[in-house]
Amino acid sequence: MAQVERQQWDVVVVGAGGAGLRAAIEARERGARTAVVCKSLFGKAHTVMAEGGIAAAMGNVNAGDGWRVHFRDTMRGGKFLNQWRMAELHAQEAPDRVWELETWGALFDRTKDGRISQRNFGGHEYPRLAHVGDRTGLELIRTLQQKVVALQQEDHRETGDHESRLKVFQECTVTRILKDGGRVSGVFAYERETGRFFVLEAPAVVVATGGIGKSFKVTSNSWEYTGDGHALALLAGAPLLNMEFVQFHPTGMVWPPSVKGILVTESVRGDGGVLRNSEGKRFMFDYIPDVFKEKYAESEDEGDRWYEDPDRNRRPPELLPRDEVARAINAEVKAGRGSPHGGVFLDVSTRMPAEVIRRRLPSMYHQFKELADVDITAEAMEVGPTCHYVMGGIAVDSDTAAARGVPGLYAAGEVAGGMHGSNRLGGNSLSDLLVFGRRAGLYAAAYAAGLTARPVADDAQVDAAAAEALRPFSAEGQEPGRADGRPPENPYTLHQELQQTMNDLVGIIRRQPEMEKALEKLADLRVRARRAGVEGHRQFNPGWHLALDLRNMLLVSECVARAALERTESRGGHTREDHPAMDRAWRRVNLLCRLADPTGGLAATDPVRGQIDLERENTEPVRPDLLALFEKEELVKYLAEEELYE
Ligand code: FAD
Repeated sequence: MAQVERQQWDVVVVGAGGAGLRAAIEARERGARTAVVCKSLFGKAHTVMAEGGIAAAMGNVNAGDGWRVHFRDTMRGGKFLNQWRMAELHAQEAPDRVWELETWGALFDRTKDGRISQRNFGGHEYPRLAHVGDRTGLELIRTLQQKVVALQQEDHRETGDHESRLKVFQECTVTRILKDGGRVSGVFAYERETGRFFVLEAPAVVVATGGIGKSFKVTSNSWEYTGDGHALALLAGAPLLNMEFVQFHPTGMVWPPSVKGILVTESVRGDGGVLRNSEGKRFMFDYIPDVFKEKYAESEDEGDRWYEDPDRNRRPPELLPRDEVARAINAEVKAGRGSPHGGVFLDVSTRMPAEVIRRRLPSMYHQFKELADVDITAEAMEVGPTCHYVMGGIAVDSDTAAARGVPGLYAAGEVAGGMHGSNRLGGNSLSDLLVFGRRAGLYAAAYAAGLTARPVADDAQVDAAAAEALRPFSAEGQEPGRADGRPPENPYTLHQELQQTMNDLVGIIRRQPEMEKALEKLADLRVRARRAGVEGHRQFNPGWHLALDLRNMLLVSECVARAALERTESRGGHTREDHPAMDRAWRRVNLLCRLADPTGGLAATDPVRGQIDLERENTEPVRPDLLALFEKEELVKYLAEEELYE
């Protein structure tokens, strides 16, 4: 095998969204030589697309807010399946992370008296989202990048080299985590433009690769969200936690087809937008579930009064957690009360003056004007559910962000599981990225510094990773999978079939026979994906890149389908038509997905049985002082019988 360039670092961070950058900054500040690898251009990540804001209980708009209230909301939103210690740390540390961003140069919108302004969002009891119009993620990433540059300038002054202690490898994809025995020893990656392979050796790797949305047909996610980090961790031997929980955001664009799935931020509802069906009815009042009944308005009048006087009125049900709103929209469309293009109507035009809409929701105004020729200051938008976020992810230690079972592996951000339980509240992702990105960087750097000998990335692993990456170029008939003389499979066709399968059979409403069918279809796609072939060469070849991403999407999709089939209840981002109720007994259960072949191989796996083993484990009991933050009557709705007894 040809020589592959190797470089030595202390910490490698895979992903340059909010979690990755915050981890890299922390690791570098703790003295670790840190490399960041990202699949797209530096600065282009989902974080930059975040619109509504960052949730942090600063109490700037309502002094009643505090970390305990934020913790309670997060646990309720996740239907108590959250890794409670993560939810606690997140609620406690988020305000500091927002303040820190300001000290690094971020400029949030202000209240009249000059404090950081905070807006309402679904599931949050008080106005809690610090924001910059509807372009909050852009400011967050801009600020973190500015901090990276500041650190690099500092390094240049000391060493004469900007990249001596913190270097970004942009437009590079990591395809394997390398190991020495059980421990992490680095990553194998390729440059997307040239196709050149390289190895970054490091004793600690932080995975911060974001989500999995590109496995679904209708999604708010962009091209790079193919579940790479989830798959990399699985292949390295770490389990994934509760992968059945996938968030379908209630409001994606539904028309025209070319923009279907693009997000319509929840701020539209937070700022007063209402949902109506084709009969003009504000239908959300019919969909308030029992667990939330006491907290939401019973009439339109009360809901409207809440915007002005939140202390004496209850919030409108348009601000229920996302899973509830998405299911309600789905039900209205199914009942024949949808909009012309299969969604419902979201209206701000009758609720706010045009200039306020343009000021508070500038991106939404332009998005609809340019993509759909709709003026949202004068007419309603058509919206429907879109696959948005994955709550499931790499199983991590709550405090250190260390991935379970693989020393040296850390995970933060959307790719990590546990924090959001069965459903994430809007705004809780940006805060999650900063809180746990920082923790991952901190503990990864400490781990690397504490080792006496560096783990080794041996040639055999590097050769195997290179061979795996080159397989799509192998000529027909040379590969075992192609010995039958059949032509190679087109990666784009495989991707489309996968997206359709997940959308139709493991989507927002799930049924046992459909998920079983999905698993059969995934088995077939897996066999065919081994024959995925591409033409041309390694210089920027998107077909090749997609062929490599298919491995990850198929692994992750199988995790979602298997776990969804196993969990016979409905909770948060997992709705079973055949098991429509939340079952308190399931609150005790985490589902872990592991690679069936513990050596990290894929080829030998039985196609029918699949690549994933599913395992049940008990959730950790919630600490009593945190449970005491809830009324007993509320806990009865969530906790299993034996937990209540305890
Ligand atoms: P990302 O920001 O997704 O970054 C992932 C990084 O990993 C990228 O740099 C990518 O290139 C890289 N990567 C992926 N695979 C590889 C690989 N194999 N090798 C190398 N690099 C790789 N959340 C909120 O809290 N508030 C909001 O208002 C909000 N609005 C949103 C709006 C939209 C349109 C979307 C899509 C999401 C929104 N979210 C919001 C969710 C939130 O933005 C994401 O969950 C969050 O940004 C994820 O951050 P991350 O750091 O985990 O990953």
